[in-house]
Amino acid sequence: MTGTTTPPSSATAVIDHLMSAAFLSQQVALTDLAQHTGLLWRCICSQLNGLHLQACERCEKPRLWTKDHTPHAYGTLLEDLRAALAEWFDDRPKLRRPAAISFGVTLDYDDGPAWDTANPTAYFTDSPNGQEYPDDFAKSRVADALVDIDDFDQPQPHDTLRVVVPPPFTTGTTAAAADEPTSD
Ligand SMILES: [Zn+2]
Repeated sequence: MTGTTTPPSSATAVIDHLMSAAFLSQQVALTDLAQHTGLLWRCICSQLNGLHLQACERCEKPRLWTKDHTPHAYGTLLEDLRAALAEWFDDRPKLRRPAAISFGVTLDYDDGPAWDTANPTAYFTDSPNGQEYPDDFAKSRVADALVDIDDFDQPQPHDTLRVVVPPPFTTGTTAAAADEPTSD
C-alpha cells in the first residue's frame, strides 16, 4: 500500500478549482480528462458527477459499479487484487480508467479451474453493460493477486469475480462495499 490517501471530495475540489480558472475550450478538455482518468464519473444520462456523489446530480440514479461481486469473501486477498488493479491503471494513464473489472475462469491449467488473466471485462459508470477489455493481465501484480485467490479458494468454472477499481490517489480508502459474497 502506498502511504498517501486522498478523500474523493478532494478530487472534486481540485477539478472545481481548475474549471473556474479555465477558458471554455480548456474546460472541455479538463472534463474529458477528468472522466477518462476516473476523477469524475459519467452517469448513463451523460451527466458528469463528482466522486463524492453516489447518485447522479441530474437524474438521481445510483452510480453504477460501486460494489464488488465475488463468489466468496476473500478478505485482504481481494484488497491486494484491488491495489494491483489500481497500480495497473495508475501506470497507464492513457487508458480510460474503468469503475470495475471482472474476471472469468480458465480451464487451461492441469491443476483445475483458475481465475483468467485474459479476456477480462471492463465496466464504466455510463453503461449498465460491461465491455471487453483488450489487455491481458498476465505476468503482472494483478495475475499474482489472482493466483493467491486461486490458492485460497479455487473458483468453479462459471464463477465471476468483479472488483471495483478505486479512483486515482484513493488506494486504501476505497469506496467499495464490504467484502461479502454478492449475487447482483
Ligand atoms: Zn444521471
